Amino acid sequence: MVDKVQKTEQEWKQELSVDQFAVCRLAGTERAFTGKYWDHKEKGVYVCACCGTPLFTSVTKYDSGSGWPSFFQPLQADVIRENRDSSHGMVRTEVLCGACDAHLGHVFPDGPPPTGLRYCINSLSLDFRPEAGA
Ligand code: FE
Repeated sequence: MVDKVQKTEQEWKQELSVDQFAVCRLAGTERAFTGKYWDHKEKGVYVCACCGTPLFTSVTKYDSGSGWPSFFQPLQADVIRENRDSSHGMVRTEVLCGACDAHLGHVFPDGPPPTGLRYCINSLSLDFRPEAGA
């Protein structure tokens, strides 16, 4: 299990940029093809922008054509949490950081093998840590 990180809305507001706060804490979505990681191909680990928990690795990142960073699986099953999202007239599965409940994006059943899943994640919800020596 991941250790829970709990902060007040005011604390998050102080730590995050306005755009990060809107996406991570208010479940916003950055515009497609505008984030810093949708076309990012370095080797390394993507961590939660809010709490630093490692969430995804470049090994499972792929080009989905969506304009958002896309992965076919999380680093470990319990680093993320899923939640039914029926906003905007659609039923989707929201993906959140398992530690701090940051909104990350959504998961869709149209990904590549071996999972068939597409974790469609906002760049603003992520920070990148290059792999040592990569
Ligand atoms: Fe987090």
